[in-house]
Amino acid sequence: TVLASETRTVVSPGRIELGAGAIETLGTHATRYGDTALVVATEQIFEFHGDAVVRELEAAGVEPVVYTDVRPDPTVENIENAHALYEREGCEMIVTLGGGSSIDTGKGAGILATNEGAIRDFGVDRAGYEGVPNPTPPIIAVNTTAGTGSEATRSVVVSDESTSTKFLIVSANVVPDVAIEDPVLTQSLPKSHTAFTGIDALTHAIEAYVSVKSYSVPDGYAEEAMERIARSLPVAWANGDNLDARADVMVGQLQAGQAFTNASVALVHGLARPLGAQLHIPHGLANGLILPYVVDFSAMAAPEKYAEIARILGVADEHTPTREAADAAADGVLRLCADMDLTGYLDDFGEVPSREDYLAVVDEMTQDAIDSGSPDNNPRKPTRDEIADLYVTIYDDA
Ligand code: NAD
Repeated sequence: TVLASETRTVVSPGRIELGAGAIETLGTHATRYGDTALVVATEQIFEFHGDAVVRELEAAGVEPVVYTDVRPDPTVENIENAHALYEREGCEMIVTLGGGSSIDTGKGAGILATNEGAIRDFGVDRAGYEGVPNPTPPIIAVNTTAGTGSEATRSVVVSDESTSTKFLIVSANVVPDVAIEDPVLTQSLPKSHTAFTGIDALTHAIEAYVSVKSYSVPDGYAEEAMERIARSLPVAWANGDNLDARADVMVGQLQAGQAFTNASVALVHGLARPLGAQLHIPHGLANGLILPYVVDFSAMAAPEKYAEIARILGVADEHTPTREAADAAADGVLRLCADMDLTGYLDDFGEVPSREDYLAVVDEMTQDAIDSGSPDNNPRKPTRDEIADLYVTIYDDA
């Protein structure tokens, strides 16, 4: 139900192109915006799909100017360099190729193209929400992960290497004009990133759904996103060539992005950003490790919402009493993660600091998590000590 008292501004990309072959619409969209496009990508993703993007642009008479130095978890320097190239070559639009890292670099370069100041000045801690005065130049986001949903959001996440922190820019003026969601492009995603990015999307949907800022419109996106991700993510993980499963997850992550950008993220993201900034672990992995604990911690504060999550994840049915179902939600998340071998502790995944070195940064990460404001959106508000405890819990099984 949409209630009359729900007066909100709902943001969305101007156009969304869905389905296998959607990449072929790129040229037609680009010609609406000018003759020269800055193409922003990671080196890796450009190797996979750069030819297709260049071909589509050139066939439409649009000259591509290519920037491929984007680092996963893009930096202030990435954005400044992409912007410098945009200006030097007289570009009129930005085409991003890749997942959240490429999209956020493109959004950041776009902010600098139409606004005075350094990128750091637009962070929510300095400029507040809606702190970008002028709209970016047109952005066409060709998405290749499933994913952050950044092609549909008003967020930009930037790594500041000088402080080992990630800062957030939030403004309706950065929402892309066109989102291209071609599941064929996600077939090259390795198993690990299929799981990480898919769990990132599930986290967006769950956090938007339980957020204190939730309301009926993002709730609808979130419910459908959870359904799509729960039924198709393990299928896409097990068989990356299954195009229907890839497409279902891709639409699910888009809806999850639409959900959180119109409600909010909450405690999981508050904890995950400092982890990514300090340890450089993939964003989705950070979310995946934290999510079951936060669901368990929060379920008592919004039992009806968590009961619905448990039902969607298949660990409760309509006969299960609400409180019992809510308590099962964390199991539902764990089972989905286990289906993709994504369980364990931080020290099970790649190179992480020793326990002692990790504990030495917990205090700093806790402060960064609090400063981000995201924990305040959680249905159960954590104390400072509870945040620190969650960081310790996910490190190992000690
Ligand atoms: P990513 O863009 O960092 O890509 C991860 C890796 O996968 C990269 O090495 C990339 O080259 C590779 N890759 C991407 N697509 C591929 C494909 N189809 N085939 C093969 N390799 C591929 O991953 P992501 O998870 O989409 O983005 C993470 C970033 O997005 C983080 O910085 C995170 O903080 C940010 N983020 C932003 C928002 C937002 O709304 N702006 C939301 C959530 C997360």
